[in-house]
Amino acid sequence: MSMKKRILFLSAILIPSLIFFAVLCIGFLLTFHTDVSRYSELYIPPTEKNTSDLKITFLGTSSLLFQDKDTSLLVDGFFTRPSKFRAILKTVEPDTEIIQNVLDQLQVKKLDAVFTVHSHYDHAMDSGIIAKQTGAFLVGSDSTAYIGLGSGLEEKFIRRVNAKETLQFGKFKITILPSRHSPHARYEGEVTAPISTPAKIEEYKEGGAFSLLIEREGKSVLVQGSAGFIPGALKEYDVDLLYLGVGGLGKNPESYREEYWKEVVEVTRPEQIVLIHWDDFFLPLEETLKPLPPFFDDFDATMEFMLGKSKSSKIPLFLQERYSVHSL
Ligand SMILES: [Zn+2]
Repeated sequence: MSMKKRILFLSAILIPSLIFFAVLCIGFLLTFHTDVSRYSELYIPPTEKNTSDLKITFLGTSSLLFQDKDTSLLVDGFFTRPSKFRAILKTVEPDTEIIQNVLDQLQVKKLDAVFTVHSHYDHAMDSGIIAKQTGAFLVGSDSTAYIGLGSGLEEKFIRRVNAKETLQFGKFKITILPSRHSPHARYEGEVTAPISTPAKIEEYKEGGAFSLLIEREGKSVLVQGSAGFIPGALKEYDVDLLYLGVGGLGKNPESYREEYWKEVVEVTRPEQIVLIHWDDFFLPLEETLKPLPPFFDDFDATMEFMLGKSKSSKIPLFLQERYSVHSL
């Protein structure tokens, strides 16, 4: 066989093999899920008879429902969870049917307020529609306000807030605290006009990030929706329970994880921590939660770090399954 024929022959085998291998690798990185059952002892067990006044239901990502017998507050509320294909290659929009199904499952007809921690689509896309369907106020940045307006929510139901503002709903006092998004986030900047849907996910710009301090009758909960921080911003707040966002934390260096722990956990001295924003939010909420695939995060690295810190600090660490209820 001549050299030229040999090269052609090898190319005919090699190139398709390489393409096949590359496709396999990309598929693995986008779809593989660490087996979350290895952390099953961390799950808060389902409460059969909840006598507590304050109930907190986890709904994937940073979505949390706070309730007492008179008041219901939602943080974020991202229920539509479009597939990777739609989110990355096409457009997204709130699915009113999915949203209503989730509200029905929660037996929620009325909400008092929907708060967003920032305006990326995996936090705020559904917020306007949820507020509209439940008669709630939408509380957030100017960017979140534009998402609400784009969803047809009337201006009178929108509360634009700045850091350090405090709002009262029933017995709940909510303080908006300044924060920062986790590093290397995409879609920085502000939303400057109502978003009409379907929209590309990049239209949902961050619009600034908040932490939420939620206090009720002597109990305090901090929701840290994104794994970022402003040095010193949380130092005057001791809390009972910390909902700690860990999205993207596993892909950050150990030194960043150490700083994040110091600035968010050490200063707020929680009695317990529940990790949030660890799940693959491209999967529907009707499925058991699975960690983000390796392309987006390194869940095992996050867990190794968090379990080590939990042990050395003696602060118990938990996970919640979607729809599970924690109480204080
Ligand atoms: Zn974000």
